[in-house]
Amino acid sequence: MIKAEQKPLEEILLYLKSYDRILLSGCGACVTVCQAGGEKEVGLLASALRMARMKMGTPLEALEATPARQCEPEFAAELSETVEKVEAVLSVACGVGVQTLARHFPKTPVFPGVNTTFLGETVTHGVWEERCQACGNCILERTGGVCPVARCAKQLFNGPCGGSSKGKCEIKREADCAWQLIYDRLNGLGQLYRMEEIIPARRWGVESRDSGLRRIVREDLKV
Ligand code: SF4
Ligand code: SF4
Repeated sequence: MIKAEQKPLEEILLYLKSYDRILLSGCGACVTVCQAGGEKEVGLLASALRMARMKMGTPLEALEATPARQCEPEFAAELSETVEKVEAVLSVACGVGVQTLARHFPKTPVFPGVNTTFLGETVTHGVWEERCQACGNCILERTGGVCPVARCAKQLFNGPCGGSSKGKCEIKREADCAWQLIYDRLNGLGQLYRMEEIIPARRWGVESRDSGLRRIVREDLKV
């Protein structure tokens, strides 16, 4: 799922400083799971903002809402009546949700309340790690289910760089070397022969995000 972290309160206060009535909108999906922008975090952040602005002598009215999925137009539409009552929206959904609201409400400023960080997995309670960079051409079947795009600091496709030490990455010492993980996993599966298969170089500019906006079109689903 998408992972995010709340922005510092001071940063949020700065860009809300000229507004007295806002809607603080969360999202019931990914940011709820990573506890950055669900209903609970909306309530806590709204209280923190109200208190901070009270102390500054410029009270803030913060309405609250948490649609099921802020990145879906029909859920964004549910906010229409509330958005009409406010001067600005602070969204603690991921960057997709922020942009959905900005597109849906062209006359209302929409600000991000979180930093959208990565597509990740819950490692343990309160710890999330990146697992996928949405590269557009998944090769996990060749790497034992370990992603070298997201987990190798050099994004190597054909074996390790040779700099790892005790299974740790030479660039990020706290991280496991992705190719050590790939080796261990393939070894466990009895598929070490896969290490000898050459994974072709990626045309990042064509297949991935380097060439700008990517789009999926499903003719069978269009209405
Ligand atoms: S190869 Fe890695 S980055 Fe690409 S889609 Fe698969 S998991 Fe995601
Ligand atoms: S040590 Fe491993 S994870 Fe780090 S850059 Fe080299 S191959 Fe990639």
